[in-house]
Amino acid sequence: MIIVKSPREIELMREAGHVVALVFETLRPMLVPGVSTLELDQKAEEVIRSHDCLPTFKGYGGFPGAICISVNETLVHGIPSSKIILKEGDIVSLDVGATYHGYCGDACRTYPVGIISGAAERLVKTTKASFFEGASKIKKGVHLGDISHAIQVFNESRGYSLTTDYTGHGIGSHLHEDPSIPNVGKEGTGPVLQVGMCLAIEPMVAEGKPNVRILGDGWTAKMKDGKLSAHYENTVVVTEEGYEVLTKLKTQTISDLKENDY
Ligand code: MG
Repeated sequence: MIIVKSPREIELMREAGHVVALVFETLRPMLVPGVSTLELDQKAEEVIRSHDCLPTFKGYGGFPGAICISVNETLVHGIPSSKIILKEGDIVSLDVGATYHGYCGDACRTYPVGIISGAAERLVKTTKASFFEGASKIKKGVHLGDISHAIQVFNESRGYSLTTDYTGHGIGSHLHEDPSIPNVGKEGTGPVLQVGMCLAIEPMVAEGKPNVRILGDGWTAKMKDGKLSAHYENTVVVTEEGYEVLTKLKTQTISDLKENDY
């Protein structure tokens, strides 16, 4: 069942989303060669807790980190570690969840470390653009499959592939709620969107084949072919005429997010 949120619930999610965005603002300047993903995780947790939030992912299904940090060919769910050190040319995705007074915000950005290859740059920017392509379909009365289809076509037409092993999701007082939001799909299929539904839309895009393998830690999902992958996500709420992004600084607009490089 897809839960429609009240204005009060959406306000709490806006607060959570603001703190998620603060984590991105804080970590972005730290993404330099030599920093470990554990150091990034510790800073993220500090920011989240100091703003009256809880790190949503910590302990979720036993996940050990405060956030997920996935480098290069790691698609999602990278566990922060003192042994994973960023180096020049890496791309690193920061997937951040914050819970404010029982309500969640969930978003992801993929950032460059120093100067990255043209191929990596194109992948990261296409992944982000595909989020906004999917989101542009959102409004009251539209089918969920329209969003999935738009994300799929945008990425595949640029030579990339999308795993079906992971999807976006509804979100609210729980991190993962109905509906599941695949990154591939058909127009005119799936649930019909209503005002107040909250969705975490998250294209996870592979440069090569879409197959992933899970490491022995039970979490880290890597591309089987070792090629690059990127991830971009926001929590949004459906409105009459479109959508509002909840995982942004309160001072930011959707245009600001689009105009940001990453
Ligand atoms: Mg998510």
